[in-house]
Amino acid sequence: MQFVDVIACKRDGGALSREAVDLFVDGVVRGQIPDYQASALLMAIVLRGMTDDETAWLTDAMVRSGDRVDLSDLPGIKVGKHSTGGVGDKVSIVLAPVAAACGVTVPKMSGRGLGHTGGTLDKLESIPGFRVGLTIEEFKATLRAVGTSIIGQTATLVPADKILYALRDVTATVESIPLISASIMSKKIAEGSSALVLDVKCGDGAFMKERARAQALAESMVAIGTRAGVRTEAFLTDMDAPLGRTVGNALEIAECVDTLKGQGPDDLTSVVSRLAARMTLLAGLETTANAALSRASAALASGRALEVFTRMIERQGGDPRVVDDYGLMPVAPDHETFTAWSDGVVTRVLAGSIGRATHQLGAGRTTVGEPVDHAVGLRMQVVRGERVKKGQPLLELYHRGGRGLDAARALCREAIHIDEAGQASPAGDRILGEVR
Ligand code: URA
Repeated sequence: MQFVDVIACKRDGGALSREAVDLFVDGVVRGQIPDYQASALLMAIVLRGMTDDETAWLTDAMVRSGDRVDLSDLPGIKVGKHSTGGVGDKVSIVLAPVAAACGVTVPKMSGRGLGHTGGTLDKLESIPGFRVGLTIEEFKATLRAVGTSIIGQTATLVPADKILYALRDVTATVESIPLISASIMSKKIAEGSSALVLDVKCGDGAFMKERARAQALAESMVAIGTRAGVRTEAFLTDMDAPLGRTVGNALEIAECVDTLKGQGPDDLTSVVSRLAARMTLLAGLETTANAALSRASAALASGRALEVFTRMIERQGGDPRVVDDYGLMPVAPDHETFTAWSDGVVTRVLAGSIGRATHQLGAGRTTVGEPVDHAVGLRMQVVRGERVKKGQPLLELYHRGGRGLDAARALCREAIHIDEAGQASPAGDRILGEVR
């Protein structure tokens, strides 16, 4: 089979055979398919789509392109979690210890931030000494001792995705549900969990802006996981507004610890509890949704989840005293209050603009490998639906000597809408739907 025929088949709307998909992935990893041919096929896939079979074969070939973590010597059902990413999305950092405190083993490989969304690893590195680059043996030892461990992906996991994602990034071929599903699910399957909970974010600050596309992505990933023997379930969650009150690395860790102490924002606490309950059910530790939710609430209320988090920090080389003293993490030297310009009801806090504001302050990165400023970010003083008075603080901007402050202010002004004639309303449920 010539690779040009594979491209032509997809260009004309045909379905690729398993052999053709393998030829593509093997050829890319071995350097036998030049970038221009790989890019041509990627664009044909974006335009013509892929069947469920093709997507599953692509995922499988990508998993086989590298190592697969073997967690079979750890007891119990290992339940992983993945979020498609958002603004103020700190769910994993709270959820992993809560689920572990419920008795679930939670192996978690996370990513770094890029563009306007933050990354779990960057947030955790706000904790002095915290190591995200554990070896697989250290990862497994932490899982055994603590019940959870959060680390970065190892270099040998799904090399095909590293090559293909870099190509997709520069050829406008990221936007394809089969390609996104295969990219995410190949990494999750290679991580070795037996079950998986996905948090597919939807809205202004998310990768998927529209509900229908978020739903389609969730369905595609659940189908791939299930077919690969990894029981997979997904939640669709609202990312029109940032999650919780803080955006920025150290600020978010402090909010995570507050949440583990039972003093977190309602939206974050509720999403964490619902996802932890689902993980508890997938692990077979409870059989009803109510019992699983009670178990998750008890893990938080008893302080056991905070204890797990503290032990994970310690095992991964971090300073566990941060849970009592947030000042041990980087603290921005300057701050400024951003106030309401009129009386009214806050009807919108657009997550995308808020994410770009914190990026301007230095909390995020534009290119892979760039350093981030762990100290800067913002804290919201109001949430959607709240009535405000002119001059009332809307948010606090934490900055370093005014870096990016003008642009951040403009983005915050763009993000927030105050409706002078609006009616105050309670914050809605963040969970929009589920796919099982
Ligand atoms: N995240 C991934 O890991 N892969 C994609 O293709 C898109 C988002």
